[in-house]
Amino acid sequence: MTEAASGQRILARVSMGAIESNCRSISRRLVGGAELCAVVKADAYGHGAAEVSRAALRGGATRLAVATAGEAEEILSNVPEAKDVPLVILGAMSPSELARAAAIDAEVGVWTTGFLEACRVLASETGRPLRVHVKHDTGMGRLGQTDQAEVVEMLSSAARDGELELAGLWTHFATADEPGDPFLAEQIEVFSESVAVARSLQPGCMIHAANSGATLADPESHFDFVRCGIAIYGLSPYGGDSGELELEPALSLVSRVGAIKDLQVGDSVGYGRKWTASSPTRVAICPVGYGDGYRRALGGVADVLVGGKRAPVIGAVSMDNIAIELGSSSEVQIGDEVVLLGRQGEEEISAQELADHLETINYEVTVGIGQRVPREVAP
Ligand SMILES: *Cc1c(COP(=O)(O)O)cnc(C)c1O
Repeated sequence: MTEAASGQRILARVSMGAIESNCRSISRRLVGGAELCAVVKADAYGHGAAEVSRAALRGGATRLAVATAGEAEEILSNVPEAKDVPLVILGAMSPSELARAAAIDAEVGVWTTGFLEACRVLASETGRPLRVHVKHDTGMGRLGQTDQAEVVEMLSSAARDGELELAGLWTHFATADEPGDPFLAEQIEVFSESVAVARSLQPGCMIHAANSGATLADPESHFDFVRCGIAIYGLSPYGGDSGELELEPALSLVSRVGAIKDLQVGDSVGYGRKWTASSPTRVAICPVGYGDGYRRALGGVADVLVGGKRAPVIGAVSMDNIAIELGSSSEVQIGDEVVLLGRQGEEEISAQELADHLETINYEVTVGIGQRVPREVAP
């Protein structure tokens, strides 16, 4: 077995080739000239926002989206080419965050007349137009304006205003991760009235609605651009196998064997003595734990890949260590690579497999990888 790259105790390897090819694969499926906006919030779902932004733009994305002003600042200061494309902030912002967004010419979401007014005041102070995207809540029940008359009022006010630019009209789907759920079509139906108004007010106003789930399931949702996150990382928005969607997972999480010990019957491993040897066996200690985002709930249920085979994580996951049962005849040695997420030989541990153990979604698995884990850019 090869040693984990750079001799790191743990490493998240992110294939920028996979990010690029996923972007191309998604773009090929877009209808009516729709563009791809790469959603790189939360450090690109744990993959590293700067490198992923570059790769997504190389792969054909024409826009970027983040959740916060701080994320937008970070991308613009680290990715020179991001300055050439629109960057939209999707989240709710405080007045001071809005000022930071305006200072870097990011585009912002708006769903109340009060916030629209704050945008106008800010734009007149800075003397530069602020580009706003009016958000219609068509059923997500989260951010956005539910009242259609208010949406229309904001659209026309932004279109009229010399200080503001009506850059977009958008909505967000509640059930796109469940293909076939009729609620998505109902949301599109509600949205279509606002779409007609926006198009008539300002032909260049970009209409956008689809996340990955809607993009891959329903071309009706594509409009002028789609906002894809999970799919560009090569994971399925529906919780299944991403290979069927012609997407390639970009991230793997690798560690190495830090220590090996032989146990006798009755010897226990780790905090709380949750696991005890029932026959003589060999155990590897791997220097990764919940301090790296390898969640405690994976103890006793997850597998890792070592020596080209699956091996169970035994006992409690601690902050900096896990234990793996190798079996008495194992030839695994100190320094051998341990794959926590990703492929080794013929075997694979997918983000979905870990998500199933944790009773969560694949999104939370990669987003949860800790700051202590270095990200390594792979081809
Ligand atoms: C995060 C987010 C997306 C991307 O969703 P995916 O399911 O990861 O494609 C799109 N739109 C909004 C408003 C979001 O917050």
